[in-house]
Amino acid sequence: MKLTELLARRKYALSFEVFPPKTDTAYESVRVATEQIARLHPAFMSVTYGAGGGTSAYTLEMADMIRRRYGVPSLAHLTCVSSTRETVQARIRDFAAAGIENIMALRGDIPADRMQEDRGRWAYRHAVELVREIREIDPEMCIGGACYPEVHPESADQKEDIRYLREKVEAGCSFLTTQMFFDNNLLYNFLYKLREAGVTVPVIAGIMPITNANQVERAIKLSGSFMPQRFKSLVNTFGRQPEAMKQAGIAYAVDQIIDLYANGITHVHVYSMNKPDVAEQIQSRLSAILGTDV
Ligand code: FAD
Repeated sequence: MKLTELLARRKYALSFEVFPPKTDTAYESVRVATEQIARLHPAFMSVTYGAGGGTSAYTLEMADMIRRRYGVPSLAHLTCVSSTRETVQARIRDFAAAGIENIMALRGDIPADRMQEDRGRWAYRHAVELVREIREIDPEMCIGGACYPEVHPESADQKEDIRYLREKVEAGCSFLTTQMFFDNNLLYNFLYKLREAGVTVPVIAGIMPITNANQVERAIKLSGSFMPQRFKSLVNTFGRQPEAMKQAGIAYAVDQIIDLYANGITHVHVYSMNKPDVAEQIQSRLSAILGTDV
């Protein structure tokens, strides 16, 4: 199913993200975690591409498995910045041939050792070029793009970031998913500015449940997210007690999600990091809202 159809239903929905295994030997444990998350019947599941150290070759396999074997709509991520045009075109064709209907078109992070290169020679410099490539190869593909409520770290300011985001949507993105954020007001302000700039496609809110203290530093480094005092206090108080931290982190994420639903955001995507227990606990705490009560 195309995600545009799913998003048009405007019912409260929850989806989960998994990342592919880093090594062949890790494949089975990732497959089992993926299956357990799929058994929760989320609205859809996304599979990252190379992010988190995952192997990009597995993205297609996992997205295909989620859709065919478990009957859950899937979204396959694809990045372009470190790849040749031939590789990217071949991947798009492989996705289309396998029946994948949804691709998240991403630039990818620029590796530190390539930051000083002459970018004019790269096959792809920005995600918008990948969006155009996908559109050309498969006009039917449903394409998503990333967006940043707290501004992408490389952008001069939010105005510039939103101007390029609009270009990405005009090139063919039918929906956007946000970077993680820990203060919902940042998203509400961002959405207001997006709509003002004429960007009207559905925006899926990305929520990262922080379930251990080490994750906090990594999350900030990755996303540059602002940590509200309420969240910092929680980490300071429970960070050294793993089970208490996990419980508090899940409660914080659930609280964020309920506030989002209550303020008109119908779709939330959880960066569930291959953790079925976390996905299950979040979903069960929202069961009456989502209508998944049994
Ligand atoms: P772009 O849209 O290209 O934007 C990057 C920067 O360039 C921004 O500052 C933007 O304002 C600017 N820009 C855009 N277009 C232009 C232009 N035409 N001219 C000048 N400047 C421009 N990474 C992975 O490796 N694998 C994944 O699976 C993955 N999944 C992600 C999912 C989500 C929802 C998000 C939010 C991020 C994900 N990432 C993933 C990380 C992502 O690759 C990085 O954040 C990357 O730095 C930017 O990717 P982008 O697609 O947003 O790039």
